[in-house]
Amino acid sequence: MGIEFENKKEGVTMKCMRCGNNAYQSRTTEAIELGNGVLVIRNIPCYKCEHCDEVMFTGDIIQQIERIIAEAKQRMEQVSIIEFEKSA
Ligand SMILES: [Zn+2]
Repeated sequence: MGIEFENKKEGVTMKCMRCGNNAYQSRTTEAIELGNGVLVIRNIPCYKCEHCDEVMFTGDIIQQIERIIAEAKQRMEQVSIIEFEKSA
């Protein structure tokens, strides 16, 4: 799924966990398999490695993603597409 936990304060430059190069602030889209359906979350704030395109999320973003996943599971839709900003 590409989610890695990195417990760093906001504003601190992230280092890629795969290759160690600098990661810059970006946005990404994640597709998550729920078993009974697929959840797509668009425009998630993330850090992306400038070298290998590894995507990393901060702890509070991961918490919010987990909340969106929990809500999507309750709805049991086959395909859910959610904008990250609107779900905040
Ligand atoms: Zn990298």
